[in-house]
Amino acid sequence: MTRGGIGLQGSKLVAGLAVATALLLPSAAQAKTTLVEVEETSHAVLHKLEALGLDVTYEGDERTELMLHGPEDEQILAGTGYAYKVLIEDMDGANDAYLDKEEVHQARAERGIAPLSTLPTGRVAYRTLTDVNAELQQLATTYPDRVKLFTLSKPTLLGKTIYGVEVSHDVATAGAKPSFLLSGAHHAREWPTVEFTLEFIWDLLLNDKAGDDASALLEKGKLIAVPVVNPDGYDLSRSLQNEQKRKNCRITAGVIPTLADCTLAANVNRGIDLNRNYLPFWGGPGSSSSATASNTRGEAPASEPEIQGMIDLLNKSNVTVAINNHTPDQRLLRAPSSSNEPDVVADEVAYEALLQRLSKNLPGWAAGPWTDVYYEASSTAEQQAYYAYGAFGFTPEATPGFSGTQTFHPPYQNVIDNYLGTGTRYANQTMRGLYYDAFAAATEADKHSVLTGTAPAGTTLTLSKSTLLDSSSLVWTTGQPAEVRAFPNTIAQSITVPASGKFEWHVNPSGRPSQYNATHLDEAYDLVCSAPDGTVLERTTLKIKRGEVANRSLCTTGTVGGTVPATLSLTLGAPATFGAFVPGLAAEYDASTKADVISTAGSATLSVSDPDTANTGKLVNGAFALAQPLRAAASSPAAGAGSALTPVTTNTPLLTWTAPVSNDPATVAFKQAIGAGDPLRTGTYSKTLTFTLSTTNP
Ligand SMILES: [Zn+2]
Repeated sequence: MTRGGIGLQGSKLVAGLAVATALLLPSAAQAKTTLVEVEETSHAVLHKLEALGLDVTYEGDERTELMLHGPEDEQILAGTGYAYKVLIEDMDGANDAYLDKEEVHQARAERGIAPLSTLPTGRVAYRTLTDVNAELQQLATTYPDRVKLFTLSKPTLLGKTIYGVEVSHDVATAGAKPSFLLSGAHHAREWPTVEFTLEFIWDLLLNDKAGDDASALLEKGKLIAVPVVNPDGYDLSRSLQNEQKRKNCRITAGVIPTLADCTLAANVNRGIDLNRNYLPFWGGPGSSSSATASNTRGEAPASEPEIQGMIDLLNKSNVTVAINNHTPDQRLLRAPSSSNEPDVVADEVAYEALLQRLSKNLPGWAAGPWTDVYYEASSTAEQQAYYAYGAFGFTPEATPGFSGTQTFHPPYQNVIDNYLGTGTRYANQTMRGLYYDAFAAATEADKHSVLTGTAPAGTTLTLSKSTLLDSSSLVWTTGQPAEVRAFPNTIAQSITVPASGKFEWHVNPSGRPSQYNATHLDEAYDLVCSAPDGTVLERTTLKIKRGEVANRSLCTTGTVGGTVPATLSLTLGAPATFGAFVPGLAAEYDASTKADVISTAGSATLSVSDPDTANTGKLVNGAFALAQPLRAAASSPAAGAGSALTPVTTNTPLLTWTAPVSNDPATVAFKQAIGAGDPLRTGTYSKTLTFTLSTTNP
């Protein structure tokens, strides 16, 4: 197989350019971002500036650049005492010249009077949010068998829908295939990440020809792409209302903002850093509680709807490899991303090997854990992927080499070159190659787990697991000691068994990596097989390790269509024993046993009977019988308290269920009275009784 080449110029598809209609406020009220240069370059100083929440955007050998988002940032920097000079007083508008030129070129290219680029779509200018959403819908319409449009579970703070697509052969029935997640624009101003994500979708579709890598990947696996995780921020940045915006639109914890709130000059540095708002290790190093910091973590784990939507997506998907794209720091990163994590993670060898393999597409870029080759960050997308699911997550920091106004979104030719690995600056440094290799790794069964087997066609199989993810240790209430808090997260993924009755379901291992050491947790999935009408036919568990294949025959007693076989099942516990009877003393003795009941009947009754015709209902010791009758009663969680204690006869009903029941643990209680004048013979008094579960309404 060969990797497909880029399509010919003439066959390129170009998405329509939509006109952005975002509200433009009067310039006096617009956010201002100031670029300054600090004459300090030591790591200690940089860490201090970052710890203060300042937006350090360029770190060179001879100078350091910061973007000051509003007067609070200026005060914080002034308070450090470090000398600095203003490079650009108001950065907004500084890129207008080249952005305008690119957009004119794009419009001309779409009319066929200017050359297209060598990207899959031929684009030559950054997409607006309107372009992105229109293009995703166009993809689903153009390729209905291969592209499925979806929306995240929550709209953004400003009410925007967050769109994504699934891409696979026969995408409607591709739920069991291993999935590769590709996302862009957690950070608003990092525009190239949106371009890369969309171009890769087109790349796969345009190269989906027999024998090509794209075709093999779409046959074996599924791409899940969310080009813009932060649409509110991206729209403000891309429409140049707040071009250097990084975070979302949260101004005040717990309060839904308006667009006017988000564009207000006084709020220019507000917002939550969406890549500090996932669940594991929330609140740890490299995330700030300050509302104005560049890495504000939010009021709680997953406090932001954009991240709730991403987590919901991951919880119902079988993503085995994830790439969350960022710019601009020339790195390829993996977990651990903070010093709170194990320095050596549970899958250290496999995770590092995959990182090294992927990094071959980015020669010269630093590749490693954040903690080794970058700064620290907590509750990142990688931590979510790895500690919540055991999936391998990576962050590329792309289109490096620019500073000032072009740091996060350089002229578009650099997007083209870094995607393809062309040009002088990015020769052989190819995001395209990175994505192809990561998608391939996502489909390789030795890197995840596989559940194969048989089940009736049309039945639904569901794997679920309720887990707790630990925050970092931090002070939650002023004056109280720091503590770790656990936050629940529920994974629930389903497939429908195909007509063949055979399934091959690619999943993540059941035991997640520990957040504290290099081991895996001893966890199992709940595995449920349900009929098309939702009736549960079988409930079991699955423990499966990375690289393992488990084979299960499920719902084997159910027939096609999911009928439930009539079942009345009674399993008795250990025999009941009263202990020693004391002669000459009036007393009552108690004993009990357990009975586990499964019934699919409309109603069912548990009865006890004594088949002995000579001394019915009495305990016997050889030829001697007790004077008083044996009495019995029963109760259970599902049936409640049954009748009062009743002498055991040849047929004594004890307990009735008025609905089907599974594994209901009934207790059967016995009572034996001994009178002061009752004669007792040395030895053991006993009786073998028969318990019956019966129904008149099967
Ligand atoms: Zn970023």
